[in-house]
Amino acid sequence: MSGMQDESSVRVALRIRPQLAKEKIEGCHICTSVTPGEPQVFLGKDKAFTFDYVFDIDSIQEEIYRQCTEKLIEGCFEGYNATVFAYGQTGAGKTYTMGTGFDVNITEEEQGIIPRAVKYLFRLIEEKQQAALEQGLPPPDFKVNAQFLELYNEEILDLFDTTRDIESRNKKSNIKIHEDSNGGIYTVGVTTRNVASEAEMIQCLKLGALSRTTASTQMNVQSSRSHAIFTIHLCQSRVCPKLDTENDLDNRITSESTQINEFETLTAKFHFVDLAGSERLKRTGATGDRAKEGISINCGLLALGNVISALGDKSKKATHVPYRDSKLTRLLQDSLGGNSQTVMIACVSPSDRDFMETLNTLKYANRARNI
Ligand code: ADP
Ligand code: MG
Repeated sequence: MSGMQDESSVRVALRIRPQLAKEKIEGCHICTSVTPGEPQVFLGKDKAFTFDYVFDIDSIQEEIYRQCTEKLIEGCFEGYNATVFAYGQTGAGKTYTMGTGFDVNITEEEQGIIPRAVKYLFRLIEEKQQAALEQGLPPPDFKVNAQFLELYNEEILDLFDTTRDIESRNKKSNIKIHEDSNGGIYTVGVTTRNVASEAEMIQCLKLGALSRTTASTQMNVQSSRSHAIFTIHLCQSRVCPKLDTENDLDNRITSESTQINEFETLTAKFHFVDLAGSERLKRTGATGDRAKEGISINCGLLALGNVISALGDKSKKATHVPYRDSKLTRLLQDSLGGNSQTVMIACVSPSDRDFMETLNTLKYANRARNI
């Protein structure tokens, strides 16, 4: 864990999805190429970008999960917050990569980041409890809960709230974002699901994902224009791992029954973010409500880019990080930078027809990396 904090707290991965059948049929050419053995990608012949990780078209879900998420789950057990978000144009593979969809027919190999992370989280909980028992220590206690929010037009929707009908979704929600005296961000008015097992968590995820699609359809908006944020809170109460040597000695001398274990409580949250599509809205169609949508979503993505860029810029460390510029960055404030681990997965299409959007995504990701 200690090594982790030395690295930059924001890492950027690029994922190029395979060509879809439709793109092949329509004769699209592949315009991306990855330098073997290096995290470098070429777009066309002469545009080169380097990231922390590059995953080419043949990369599998397991590989991306392992490189981009597993360490962050381990960090949560030490009290570090984490955020993994997928950025890119609609159709580039964000939902597929994150696993925020609710496709029940998906094979185990095709599972995205969230179900894999959930599985590992509950496995670690079991392992830690088992290890404590084997050492004759009181087992740590874990509380896991989840929230699932959707941000649309700077409006927060609660995807776990089944009581509210779709119509009232259109009205202003009374969810508020607050900051505590330690700089921790918390929400008020959000449904929090207490979750006891992997299966329960997956059930929650599916229900939320379904609610997102239903709401979008009924409201006649595209879910591609909203951000989906699935958050896992981990609260752990455990025997302090740090033992004072002097006390340790005392404990050995005195009888075992007088030994007092000191407990500590560690909390951490993990945000999984499936961002709104990064494509520019066509100017011609953008009037009235639609124009407002376009502006708001750009606001979240724009603010996120600015925040990540400010965090990565060592020379500007002390200066202003513009978290308050959008609900998205405000919500993620205590889980970006600082002591938290952030991974951005930029998703792109390999096809030449998407060249300009892919270039935009590469530029955005490159700016986030800021080296
Ligand atoms: P986005 O969420 O960015 O709009 P999706 O995740 O919905 O994009 O992906 C668009 C389509 O491409 C979906 O049909 C999805 O199954 C497919 N797809 C995306 N990434 C991959 C991949 N790595 N391998 C196979 N199919 C993929
Ligand atoms: Mg999607």
